[in-house]
Amino acid sequence: MPELPEVETTRRGLLPLENQQVASVLVRNASLRWPVTSGLSSLLSGQHFLRLERRAKYLLARCERGTLLVHLGMSGRLCLLQQAEPAGKHDHVDINFASGQVLRLRDPRRFGAVLWIEGDDPLQHPLLASLGVEPLEADFDGAYLYRTTRSRSAPIKTVIMDAHLVVGVGNIYASEALFRAGIYPETPAKRIGLARYQKLAAEIKATLAAAIEAGGSSLRDFFGADGNPGYFQQEYFVYGRTGQPCKVCGTVISTMRQGQRSTFYCPRCQKA
Ligand SMILES: [Zn+2]
Repeated sequence: MPELPEVETTRRGLLPLENQQVASVLVRNASLRWPVTSGLSSLLSGQHFLRLERRAKYLLARCERGTLLVHLGMSGRLCLLQQAEPAGKHDHVDINFASGQVLRLRDPRRFGAVLWIEGDDPLQHPLLASLGVEPLEADFDGAYLYRTTRSRSAPIKTVIMDAHLVVGVGNIYASEALFRAGIYPETPAKRIGLARYQKLAAEIKATLAAAIEAGGSSLRDFFGADGNPGYFQQEYFVYGRTGQPCKVCGTVISTMRQGQRSTFYCPRCQKA
């Protein structure tokens, strides 16, 4: 599933579309997670992609009269084609620009979204209004985590993956950041002190930033019409390394179930 770093890399890769004018929209299959806004072509044609923004894992193309919201769901990816090419069976939406370029959504599992939000305040849309802070922004820090968790007894891993608190900390990044901060994933959030939260917030930012940086170097593959969307190849300390030795202390990496997700951790480096 595309995580925050893939979405941010997608946004950066689409920046050449800023100030480009939409010529038409072709919706081949409107049955995504929610139906593609009906009449999208007449709503969007003639407008420009003025600014490309990201909120959590939503891409927002701000236009003159509203905002196009795109979510990649479980399996979606956006391809930026220099000219029209024959569509495959999973190519559900094409946005054709006056320049001849085509922004194409390919989404085999169809959990993505393409929605038009009228007006100039898309952040009030129900999908966006209750989202937590952005992890890479300055208002996400150790003091914020400490302040918001004083009465939360849920495991810290579950808490940092709660999008009402902070967005975009997916399973990979939660596991890695907790390892790097030396925090056992089951520790009740309210038991963790300010200093450890400062370390944790810094490690969440660092793991996400490293993934975005890795994505930048593979941007061409990410956008090529035939490239694999995949995950950015990265070195993990714990994620997916069950049974292998910890890179710091040599202890065997363990795994546990938390909610519906697997958590990877080092029983020695990470303390409650
Ligand atoms: Zn270790």
